[in-house]
Amino acid sequence: MKLKIGLFGSKGKMGQAVSALANSERGIEIVARWDRVSDVTDASLKKVDVVVDFSGPAALVKLLPICGKLKIGLVTGTTGLSKNQEKLLKKAALKTPIIWAPNFGLGIRSLRESLGPLLKNFSPSEVIIEDIHHRYKKDAPSGTAKLLAETISKLKPRSTKLSPTVSIRGGEVFGVHRVYLLSDGEWILLEHQATDRKVFARGALLAAQWIKGRRPGLYTFDQVRKSARGHR
Ligand code: NAD
Repeated sequence: MKLKIGLFGSKGKMGQAVSALANSERGIEIVARWDRVSDVTDASLKKVDVVVDFSGPAALVKLLPICGKLKIGLVTGTTGLSKNQEKLLKKAALKTPIIWAPNFGLGIRSLRESLGPLLKNFSPSEVIIEDIHHRYKKDAPSGTAKLLAETISKLKPRSTKLSPTVSIRGGEVFGVHRVYLLSDGEWILLEHQATDRKVFARGALLAAQWIKGRRPGLYTFDQVRKSARGHR
């Protein structure tokens, strides 16, 4: 049976990437497309197994109680949430399963995995994250830059200083993330470039397949990837 998806933020850049990819996937069907919270009626939601959201923080917080009420799983890639909006997300996850990931690509996950040994062995004096995105991106630093900062804060030696992220906005850049590991006399630069939004769309659809039938809770994309690896 096909997985029936309701897509919120369907006319946006990511919404269109998800739509295009879902059309070429045999096991997935988009049965509802919404771009306003008022369009998300109970009748349209009842056809849906999982909601996929790429909208904005204000829209997402309105969507949360709707998914919670009908206990429909939610996969959201929306970034730029305030602390209070994050609390609302956690509250909704008590009622329904939710995956919230600031980056649904595989590359950033691999980059994060490489950080542990590098920080330990190279022990840089400073680390600086840089994120470059298109001129329309609303949040800065990006959700991915925040995730990288969180990962580095957990793994870095005490002597390493993590500087504030540098965010550059302009042009039509899908997303570039750089991590500079700076030391006296030498430095290492890690760079990830997204060249097609379909990498995020693919991850979000994988997460949608994974979340169907799960118990309520706030899950991460790392958990989805781990079980996908386990099933190989
Ligand atoms: P976009 O501006 O192109 O599209 C946003 C869509 O959401 C639009 O269709 C808009 O109509 C709708 N929307 C926005 N605010 C709304 C509101 N208040 N009510 C109803 N609908 C609303 O943006 P985008 O580039 O597609 O990105 C969307 C979100 O996804 C952003 O937060 C972005 O940072 C994030 N993003 C996440 C990933 C990831 O892998 N997690 C990747 C790319 C983008």
